[in-house]
Amino acid sequence: MDSAVVEHRTSTPSHTASGARRRPSRAEAEAAVRTLIEWAGDDPDREGLEGTPNRVVRAYEEFFAGYAEDPVALLATTFEKPSSYDEMIVLRDIRLESHCEHHIVPILGKAHIGYVPTGRVVGSSKLVRLVEVFAKRMQIQEALTSQIADTIQEVLEPRGVGVVIEAAHQCMTTRGIRKPGISMVTSRLLGSFRDDRTTRREFLSTIGGRRSTLPES
Ligand SMILES: [Zn+2]
Repeated sequence: MDSAVVEHRTSTPSHTASGARRRPSRAEAEAAVRTLIEWAGDDPDREGLEGTPNRVVRAYEEFFAGYAEDPVALLATTFEKPSSYDEMIVLRDIRLESHCEHHIVPILGKAHIGYVPTGRVVGSSKLVRLVEVFAKRMQIQEALTSQIADTIQEVLEPRGVGVVIEAAHQCMTTRGIRKPGISMVTSRLLGSFRDDRTTRREFLSTIGGRRSTLPES
């Protein structure tokens, strides 16, 4: 039995004994990039590519910085809303840069967030950071949209929240079907944004009339 356990552990070097994933070293990550360069058909030792594995790994640290951050903790420092304000708060055109989890190529677009507070509001820079924390991970747009909305709902407990993302996927524009100019629109509407037609209309008209394809009823 003991030898079987040892064998199992040595056959899965990416996992520690406790079952948690072990993060590969920087050298291992750079070696993997070298392999991809060779697989693409180039020579990783030629002058122009010499520093590329190192640069790619450092770029990955930026692209995927969101794994090291806790989105709930980020929103936790909220303040009470001013007593006179119980209207919708909307943040429009938040720049979005993410990477699709199927091809690890960029998803570029905009996010729009609205909520109606019941007591807690959060600074607009926190909402921008929330988008970043989830965007700087490997994503699909639908999940990204839901994660942002669900976290706001969970932490701020507003009357309702709406998140709309419109983005172009470079895996569609530069490879595969190669159709530039297509953007994908996803939305997640919770609470009064889902149940109250007037609230939903107000949100959708605030973020822009051209998004008329969104659910209206
Ligand atoms: Zn993709």
